Amino acid sequence: MTPGQRAESLIASFGISSPSEIDIEAIAFASGVEIQYDSLKGCDATLVGVDDRAIATVRPSSVRGRERFSIGHELGHWEMHRGRSFRCRTDSPDENLASNRVEEKEADSFAAHLLMPATLFNPRVNALIKPGFSALDEVAREFETSLLATSVRLTDVNQLPVALACYSASGRRWYKFSSDIPRRWRLESKLDEESFAYDLLKLGKMPGGLRKQPADVWFENSNADDFEVYEDCFPGKDGEVLVLLYLEADMMEAEFERNARGRRF
Ligand SMILES: [Zn+2]
Repeated sequence: MTPGQRAESLIASFGISSPSEIDIEAIAFASGVEIQYDSLKGCDATLVGVDDRAIATVRPSSVRGRERFSIGHELGHWEMHRGRSFRCRTDSPDENLASNRVEEKEADSFAAHLLMPATLFNPRVNALIKPGFSALDEVAREFETSLLATSVRLTDVNQLPVALACYSASGRRWYKFSSDIPRRWRLESKLDEESFAYDLLKLGKMPGGLRKQPADVWFENSNADDFEVYEDCFPGKDGEVLVLLYLEADMMEAEFERNARGRRF
């Protein structure tokens, strides 16, 4: 079973049928893990286990979603990597996303599936068709998750043709495409001055939600100017901006049209 399948089967075993029923502390208790809150130096959460009991210590956060994700992450270590102790950076799922630490990624995946199981999350986001950050914030409130973790999960579930990216003034930090987006689309490594994300990062100008942009603002492919994308952006951590892009059907199918004419990109 993948980490996600393990988490979702745990949710199913509790008979959970709505986001409000995902009581992460009760799930931890049932799994033999006691949760403590304490200020931690150099990490966001720790796990110490002996035999079939463990203590997860979580750094308190003003954002409950971050605490819940930290607990879910340590539960992931407990379910999958039992017999070892962990000190984790759980407050920044994007850091684990950009790293190659397999066990940290597994624990993050477990947490994401536990807090946003596909059976509950997918119908919710599908009903929104093209959720921008404000609509995703509503979803995050319902699931008691952070906006970042919710946005990462949106790309993971691959229900909508969405790309999520994080940029700073020096360039792209990381990105994640939903798996249906053809990999021939290459995201720009620097923010284009025409992007709403540039206005937000450089001028502090908040975007007015999801809006259309020529696709060559975001993609470096030579034929990108034949297409349009929808862009929304949101302030990230210090000096960073999160970007959400939706591709339309013509971009999703473009690869096949090229192939049909005998050209491969
Ligand atoms: Zn960890």
